[in-house]
Amino acid sequence: MSRLEASAPQAVQWIVRELDKAGHDTWAVGGAVRDMLLERRSDDWDLATSARPEQVRKVFRRTVPLGVDYGTVGVLSRNGTLYEVTTFRRDVETDGRHAVVSFADTIEEDLARRDFTINAVAWHPLRWDLVDPFGGVGDLQNCVLRTVGVPEERFREDYLRILRALRFAGLFNLEIERETWTSLSTLVSHLESLSTERIRDELLKVLAIDSSPGRALQLYAKCGALSVLYPELHDLQEVRVGEEVSRWTLSVSAVEELPIGRPMLRLAALLCEPLPFDVEAFLMRLRFSNAAIAETIKLTGSSPFPRPEADGYSWRRWLSAIGPERVPALARLGLARAKARQSFGMGDDCEFVVSSWRRAKVVRSGRPPLLVSDLALDGRGLISIGLKPGPHFAQILGGLLDWVLQDPERNQHDLLVERAVELAADITDE
Ligand code: ATP
Ligand code: MG
Repeated sequence: MSRLEASAPQAVQWIVRELDKAGHDTWAVGGAVRDMLLERRSDDWDLATSARPEQVRKVFRRTVPLGVDYGTVGVLSRNGTLYEVTTFRRDVETDGRHAVVSFADTIEEDLARRDFTINAVAWHPLRWDLVDPFGGVGDLQNCVLRTVGVPEERFREDYLRILRALRFAGLFNLEIERETWTSLSTLVSHLESLSTERIRDELLKVLAIDSSPGRALQLYAKCGALSVLYPELHDLQEVRVGEEVSRWTLSVSAVEELPIGRPMLRLAALLCEPLPFDVEAFLMRLRFSNAAIAETIKLTGSSPFPRPEADGYSWRRWLSAIGPERVPALARLGLARAKARQSFGMGDDCEFVVSSWRRAKVVRSGRPPLLVSDLALDGRGLISIGLKPGPHFAQILGGLLDWVLQDPERNQHDLLVERAVELAADITDE
């Protein structure tokens, strides 16, 4: 048996030691082991054990039943981190979407049900032994992604594995082994049977954690998953924006320019107007929350920054329309798109974006009133000067705001009262 000297977090060692003392064989498995082999940090330590859930709960004082039927017990460490401890399992039945599992007795059986060889390595946090029945360590060294067992069978058991393959291959820059690739490409049409949420969340994981998400995104396109799951995005491959460049390629390249940890911002980079489809309908189909949809539309549909030298009123009006809190996100998006265009020799407006961004900062630093809520007169104020409340209040307040955007000095209660009376009279005249 080979070994790997490394140190697991104290809490992981403690959990394994306690289970060991009670006579239960326990291993680190999955992503944390893979990440350790890649010399990447991982905070997501999963443990697999011969102990049954009720036995795990006997060993530790603070546990959380996370999915006892599936064998998973959460163990709380002293510093409050929750670790998942799962009884060895084997698949009894699978249908492409769900699996029926039963408990197993050995770590080898448990590893055999895992998706890819690189995810099917176990490591002992105290003895440092590695259990690697499918050659995952070698595959990682050779930068190869392959399924555990026969690819077609493994994908048919769970079609989500197709998307996981694309994500891992992209994230770790792995070559997908030939048969694994052929099988997944042949089976992409079955992706439709997965729930929208799982499909969407897979894409969001690519966008959230991959510092070079273009690889996974292009794999989506190449194997056909894009046309099955996101036909709107697939069609962007046919929209030319430059001689050799499609709208898809340009957008993917903009996504690459944005940081990890901001999946919605990166998604927005894929969806910037003008587009040949309706962004709102697209996001609704993916079951995003109303708040997420509204925010994304604001980012993708906003008119571009005014020119840096535009007058103060233009700037304040723009800031007011987009919502000043969105400036950083819009600046990032604008810069990412400019860099992408530049990388294809399609203009160099990076400097323009940067100077516009600076100008936006300067304009905002004077803290001018930009929103109705910034006005020195509100709806109650309008009532107190004798105006009758009604839908026209919104119109009056909108008129006041525009008047103040022209000259921030006008944001004084008395001036606004005078102006409000004029506006109210104009509205009644109409
Ligand atoms: P990450 O958490 O970084 O996305 P991970 O490998 O830890 O990567 P998880 O979804 O947390 O992925 O799953 C943990 C482990 O469980 C995987 O490494 C793999 O061994 C196994 N696994 C997860 N999903 C599947 C699946 N659909 N089919 C087979 N095994 C799976
Ligand atoms: Mg994980």
